[in-house]
Amino acid sequence: MRSLIFLLLLFSSSFFSAAASESGLNEADKLRLANPQKSKQLLDDIDFDALTQQQKYRYRYLRIYLSTIFEGDLAKVVERYRQLIAELPDSTLKVRAMQSALTLTVYKAQWYKSLALVSELKTLISQIDAYTVEPDAYLSLINFYRETEQPGIALKYANKVYMHPAATPHHQCYALSLKNQILHQEADPELSEDDFYQGISLCEDVPLPFFVAHNYTSLFKFLTDKGELIKAEIVGEEAGRRIEKIGWKHFSSGFSIAKAELKMAQEKFAEAKQLSQQVIDEDVKQDAREAVLDAYSNLAEIAALENDFEKAYKYEKQLGSLSRSFYDARVAKSLAIQRARFNLESKENRIALLDKKNQLLSTESRLVKEQMANMALVVAVALAGVLGLLFWSYRSSKIQKKLAELASTDYLTGISNRGFFNKQCQQVINTAQDKSLPASLIFLDLDHFKKINDAYGHQTGDWVLIEVTRRLSTLCEEKKYTLGRLGGEEFGIVMGCKDSEQAFDFAQECRKSIASMETAETGFDFEVTASFGISDTRQAGYNINNLFSASDLALYQAKKYGRNQVLCYDGNMSDD
Ligand code: GH3
Ligand code: MG
Ligand code: MG
Repeated sequence: MRSLIFLLLLFSSSFFSAAASESGLNEADKLRLANPQKSKQLLDDIDFDALTQQQKYRYRYLRIYLSTIFEGDLAKVVERYRQLIAELPDSTLKVRAMQSALTLTVYKAQWYKSLALVSELKTLISQIDAYTVEPDAYLSLINFYRETEQPGIALKYANKVYMHPAATPHHQCYALSLKNQILHQEADPELSEDDFYQGISLCEDVPLPFFVAHNYTSLFKFLTDKGELIKAEIVGEEAGRRIEKIGWKHFSSGFSIAKAELKMAQEKFAEAKQLSQQVIDEDVKQDAREAVLDAYSNLAEIAALENDFEKAYKYEKQLGSLSRSFYDARVAKSLAIQRARFNLESKENRIALLDKKNQLLSTESRLVKEQMANMALVVAVALAGVLGLLFWSYRSSKIQKKLAELASTDYLTGISNRGFFNKQCQQVINTAQDKSLPASLIFLDLDHFKKINDAYGHQTGDWVLIEVTRRLSTLCEEKKYTLGRLGGEEFGIVMGCKDSEQAFDFAQECRKSIASMETAETGFDFEVTASFGISDTRQAGYNINNLFSASDLALYQAKKYGRNQVLCYDGNMSDD
């Protein structure tokens, strides 16, 4: 059906002729559609060399036009048009040549050439007095916009042709038939039965029997879709007669599937089945894709109704693969059109377009990235499901734990930091108070630690801090004492149920352990010592601040009196 419209469009240019000084040329022009053979003969009889330049151009145009029929290779014809167009001065003949070339390039799916022609054609029409050739030019534009799936613009041009003062009944029949078809395809609610009958009577008057049959077939489908089945049946019979009259085989698949749809709607499944099968069988060349898709869909539906699910499945599968390839073809076409559009524009404004394209690409890649991130999230959430919830709660408890750990431990040594040590101290004091038992607090600070850093580097200093912690931890863990890093090279040990004498012994143990450290593995040999200050709740009371101050003071004194020693707080100590 589609290709038929094209073929007609190829030969649809009006029969008008310019001022008829050369009867041979005019006659050939007039006959080129109705009798191309005769038209060709007339041209053969013309002495080309005797023609004026204007006439020569016209002669060449007609020659190319007729070669569409006699020449198998349409690409060659397009090339000849292109040469002629390049030579022609701006004129109505140039419009005709462009319009003919456009019809061919659209038919050949040469989108780059088509787009270029569309823009040149439109410019030319706006620049010259193209009044007489406008209807033909617009017809080729309708065709272009229909094929590039821009039905809105196609309709605009169909209306333009139909209303054009220079339009012949031939143009009007063509425009109205296409307009009805587009409106039907777009399921326009304004479209009525009368529109088709108007098209039929217009086309009968011309006469253009192909378009009469075309309108009947469209009306037949329109009525079936609307569920007006009795009317549809009558119109369908008329459409059948018309199609038989013009004897065009090509019509058959579109018409057969329309009949099958009616039978489906009438629930006459046996006939629907037979017609659908016929569409499939006759479509050897796979031209009538849409009809074949509908046919398989009918067969699948009928098989399911007959409880033959195996068959239904077979048809559905066929339908699936066909619609995929149909879809692929449409996608390929739309990509080709887009590519052509891009190529054309870039030719006109390459640099500006490249800039724009880059912008677009970066925006696009950003969007794609965002989209992918969103998708990943959606997919992750979707996949997670119930398991995900479990995982999440497990994970979140792990995270909570990790966070709590991070908040309470010292980053370098892994023991309690100052804040957490304070809390632990408070708990130990509370417990001791509850039991009316003492608790002791040891503060220790490494001696001349700054010098170690300065002499052997910060890393060695860190090593010392870690090693001291390791030793203290080992000692504390045994006795269940709590160790913390209060900052820098200062540590605290809180001991529940122990008084300062017991703490003293433990502190001595710690001091000795530190003083006995081997530093060779750092690459340096040096001494590490620490000073200790101790207080207990008997002196400071069950008050954490007092305890901290008392131990701090004792430590201060230990430093003051020579370092590497343990001092217990006594009431006479002062910090001066
Ligand atoms: P004193 O015997 O009087 O305690 O002298 P000191 O040098 O140990 O005391 P001071 O407070 O003057 O110096 C402490 C040094 O400890 C200063 C600081 O650079 C260092 N320090 C603090 N935290 C860290 C740490 O995490 N790593 C290392 N390598 N050094 C640290
Ligand atoms: Mg120190
Ligand atoms: Mg210090």
